[in-house]
Amino acid sequence: MNTTDRFLAQTHTVENQPPALEDYNLFAEDQALQEAVKREGAAWAEQELLRFGAECGLPERIALGFAANANKPQLVTHDRFGHRIDQIEFHPSYHQLMDIAISEGLHASPWANPKPGAHVARAAKYYLHTQVEAAHGCPITMTFAAIPALQHQPDLLAKFGPKIMAPDYDGRNVPDTMKHGMTIGMAMTEKQGGSDVRSNTTKAYAIGAEGSGQAYELVGHKWFVSAPMCDAFLVLAQTNKGLSCFLLPRWRPDGSKNALHIQQLKNKMGNVANASSECELRGAFAWMVGEEGRGVRTIIEMVAMTRYDCMIGSSSGMRQATVQAVHHARHRSAFGATLVDQPLMQNVLADLALESEAAMTLTMRMARAMDQQDNEHERLLARIATPIGKYWICKRTPNHAYEAMEAIGGMGVMENTIMPRLFRESPVNAIWEGSGNVQCLDILRAIQKEPDVLEAYFNELHRAAGTDKRFDAFVTKLKADFSNTPKDQWQYQARYFADHMALALQGALLLQHAPAYIADAFCAARLSAHTSANYGCLPTGLDHRAILSRTL
Ligand SMILES: Cc1cc2nc3c(=O)[nH]c(=O)nc-3n(C[C@H](O)[C@H](O)[C@H](O)COP(=O)(O)OP(=O)(O)OC[C@H]3O[C@@H](n4cnc5c(N)ncnc54)[C@H](O)[C@@H]3O)c2cc1C
Repeated sequence: MNTTDRFLAQTHTVENQPPALEDYNLFAEDQALQEAVKREGAAWAEQELLRFGAECGLPERIALGFAANANKPQLVTHDRFGHRIDQIEFHPSYHQLMDIAISEGLHASPWANPKPGAHVARAAKYYLHTQVEAAHGCPITMTFAAIPALQHQPDLLAKFGPKIMAPDYDGRNVPDTMKHGMTIGMAMTEKQGGSDVRSNTTKAYAIGAEGSGQAYELVGHKWFVSAPMCDAFLVLAQTNKGLSCFLLPRWRPDGSKNALHIQQLKNKMGNVANASSECELRGAFAWMVGEEGRGVRTIIEMVAMTRYDCMIGSSSGMRQATVQAVHHARHRSAFGATLVDQPLMQNVLADLALESEAAMTLTMRMARAMDQQDNEHERLLARIATPIGKYWICKRTPNHAYEAMEAIGGMGVMENTIMPRLFRESPVNAIWEGSGNVQCLDILRAIQKEPDVLEAYFNELHRAAGTDKRFDAFVTKLKADFSNTPKDQWQYQARYFADHMALALQGALLLQHAPAYIADAFCAARLSAHTSANYGCLPTGLDHRAILSRTL
């Protein structure tokens, strides 16, 4: 090729494309998170979060998330000799992510090392880590959440607790006796009902003596069992006294394989790196956890924690989507100006940032409530604000992910960006662990069972009373709505209440803790007559520049 031809073969220079967002510190760049960590009681964790935030931004760490999702887990039911093995084969990156999460204590640190701010520190770390990859957070969360349920059966907790809390990940398909650490899953949902677990048909037969802590064999099926390579599962099954909770190990105590047979893996549209399965229990060995016939009461302790973690996970998804969109807009020009300098894009990005900060602020407030469960206000608040936050934050995420994707334009749809993954992940938290309506009904159930939760909720709002007229008016109307709606219509109106309770709580927290330009924008955009279904409809007069510069 002569020089001219070589020159012509170089068709163009690549311009106007942003650099990859990597080699950045996810914690140091997140002003609002840093403030929340201090405010909610985990200032002591700052150095560790700075170290971890930098690691989460490394290109090789980010690559793990891509690899784990590009390589779907595969089920191998039998070995080549015909023995049943029920083995899931994951890409090595999945195991690396699990290893990082567990060695960092995301599965147990507040139980293993309880101290003031322990939940806050863990929530912040989980929030950083799941920005890299969210799907493997499922077994991490379930392991974390299992401890409160196991507290109902102290002998089992004493036996397995140390391994569950150990910072050791071992993904091998071998008995837990051969491991230093264990992961725990959860199997409630059956074909005929997920929300209504009382319809469970799986039966438990006592091997010898009946009751708490005793050995049973379970026969039936489970329609959704995520992370089926966990070392044990909390499972619901029926005895003569009703639905009871069991701890079912993957291997029987004698070291033989337990009869938890994986039928097939779910073909999921999101949460791809994590395997979810359909299982049959063919006389599977398990110990009863907690009181016989009170299985829902026992496992709800686990469910409550997984719901709380859904708030962290969805807030984290929103944060990563916001950061990607803002980064892109800062480096991309159209019509002669960078996108971030164009008024309409400023409106969209500021609105996304506002939503993200509101979600994180509520989540971190709940982390403090988890840390202070011996305080009655915090206990009551956690009871009512967990379903409020789980419902609202998880439900706000899909549209947020989509808008962030659109801000990036055509590239946002490409699989070699994180945006499609964030989008596909976004509805999952809203559906599992109690779908939207179920959360709303749980808010009402909490109020009906323990009316003090509503008082605690309004007391929490009262801390911001008098700081903003729009907020005050919003709260006054919410109170009036509760009084004026006949009780027999509360169920029909439950989403209305949940929406407004979430917004008021986020408003109260931002008014107390966020810079005035954030709180002002939130009140203007979410608590006043000026509200819109779409992002990018912030009213004029807000300090969108300050909002954006705080974001990244
Ligand atoms: C990716 C993924 C992984 C999962 N992993 C697990 C797992 O590991 N373990 C496990 O046990 N389960 C798991 N699940 C199951 C999940 O928890 C259930 O799908 C969920 O609880 C909903 O149950 P369902 O699918 O049976 O829907 P249904 O219970 O039939 O509900 C359908 C819809 O009806 C609504 N609804 C229900 N009752 C009412 C009511 N009274 N009033 C108004 N609306 C109502 C619900 O909110 C929902 O929107 C997983 C699900 C997914 C998607």
